[in-house]
Amino acid sequence: MKKLFTKIVSVALIASMMGALASCATKKSLTVNKGKLVMATNAYFPPYEYYEGTKIVGIDAEIAEAVAKKLGLELEIQDVEFDSIIAGVQSNKYDIGMAGMTVTEERKQAVNFSSTYATGIQAIIVAEDSPITDIDTMIGGDYKVGVQTGTTGDIYITDEVGDERVVRFSKGNDAVLALSTGKVDAVVIDNEPAKSFVAANEGLKILETPYAVEDYAMCINKNNTELLNEINKALAELTEDGTIAAIIEKYIPSNG
Ligand code: GLN
Repeated sequence: MKKLFTKIVSVALIASMMGALASCATKKSLTVNKGKLVMATNAYFPPYEYYEGTKIVGIDAEIAEAVAKKLGLELEIQDVEFDSIIAGVQSNKYDIGMAGMTVTEERKQAVNFSSTYATGIQAIIVAEDSPITDIDTMIGGDYKVGVQTGTTGDIYITDEVGDERVVRFSKGNDAVLALSTGKVDAVVIDNEPAKSFVAANEGLKILETPYAVEDYAMCINKNNTELLNEINKALAELTEDGTIAAIIEKYIPSNG
């Protein structure tokens, strides 16, 4: 009798240990570092991500913070080259990439995208006295166009004008600086950062013809559908209760 009891107990013990192991395994696979949500971004993209002193703030940083909180995780933001974010997510260096990143069919081959949380527009910045008046004059003339490496602006413009006329920079504001100093004739970049850069640099303007409308989303490793689902659930709740709209409104006031 005693033996049978011991047997039952040990079977129960093994079963519960296996259960614990299994849940441990699922927990572990949710993020790269247990308890943390590691986000890769490029923090020179106001108002989505930029430095305030040594802290990275902005729409993406705050939405990620709210998502991490819902998931019971601590957010850690790593500032890296935009061009290295997708590869880092693929190799499980980071849990998510969030960088005003546009959802594209090509990127979807490499990573999963969350539901979109914002819209972006590709804009063209030129000098105030520039002969470039719209996208067609920019493409048609022999102008040099500055872009941020690997962005949709880079991809579209390279497609239109060819490599020789595209000058690539690792940060968006370096492209704008090159425009200010006459090294390039135009910069193609997302509209909201474009507004910040134009406000911060004299003698520049944004052309009124927006170039392409895009959706922003977080990218996540293709194998981690569990994290994708959790994030989408959190995003849905944060949309529903108005948190995301409030964060966007804080950085892009609709009446200002
Ligand atoms: N939205 C653009 C893209 O995804 C630019 C993003 C960025 O420069 N951070 O390519």
